[in-house]
Amino acid sequence: MHQPALELIIAALEKIRESSDHAPRASKSALAQLQSAPVLAPLPEAPASPCRRRLQQREKAAMLAAVQERVRACTKCAHLVCSRTQTVFGVGNPDAEVMFIGEAPGLDEDKQGEPFVGRAGQLLTRIIKAMNFAREDVYTANILKCRPDMPSGSSGNRAPTATEMQTCRPYLVEQIEIIQPKVLVALGAVAVEGLLGMRAAMRELRGRWHDYNHVPLMITYHPAYLLRNQAPSEKRKVWEDMLQVLERLERPITERQRNYFL
Ligand code: URA
Repeated sequence: MHQPALELIIAALEKIRESSDHAPRASKSALAQLQSAPVLAPLPEAPASPCRRRLQQREKAAMLAAVQERVRACTKCAHLVCSRTQTVFGVGNPDAEVMFIGEAPGLDEDKQGEPFVGRAGQLLTRIIKAMNFAREDVYTANILKCRPDMPSGSSGNRAPTATEMQTCRPYLVEQIEIIQPKVLVALGAVAVEGLLGMRAAMRELRGRWHDYNHVPLMITYHPAYLLRNQAPSEKRKVWEDMLQVLERLERPITERQRNYFL
């Protein structure tokens, strides 16, 4: 910041006066000289640090809003621009400790403009609540910000293509960099492919820690899988993955929570 020399000197003298018994003195001619001194040159930009500074919640919210505006106007996938009702950016606490990543908006999300508001989303909300979080505490987003297009009138959803994921992924990368979560949770194989670029059977991937740009990433089943497979054993697997997340976040876990779905 540019600041006249006199202001800097006066501020320094005031500090000395507050912390010492002797009031500092300056001659009239010295003050006049200072008054005509040139402004200080701005400090050179600090080189980019490999360790990013923690952002404040307000900064994060403003930065996310800027990315959201770009997403709103995005036309990179012409076919999805035509079919979408609106883009679905992401929702929740800009300063969340944990971020849940799904694959893409479905019909309900496309209508409402929010991720995970349909049946799978309601189940995700129940899982989040069982972890003792509110939906507003965490952040939820998808690999794709547009609903993959479907034949008109179809209520079904399709998985995103590799090209769509590659095109949209940079937005999610920005969201993660801004939010700086302590833990990421990838919901299902598409989220894994979008984040880590790898394909494998979910039964091999889930329940283990992975690394996404130095952020610990837990992989678990997509809630839609649990809607299709109602077996308590499958619910327990997802719950065990969430217990690992809670442990990583050093959140208290009650005995009752430990025993869910046993
Ligand atoms: N499934 C997802 O992966 N994301 C949503 O937002 C909704 C359903």
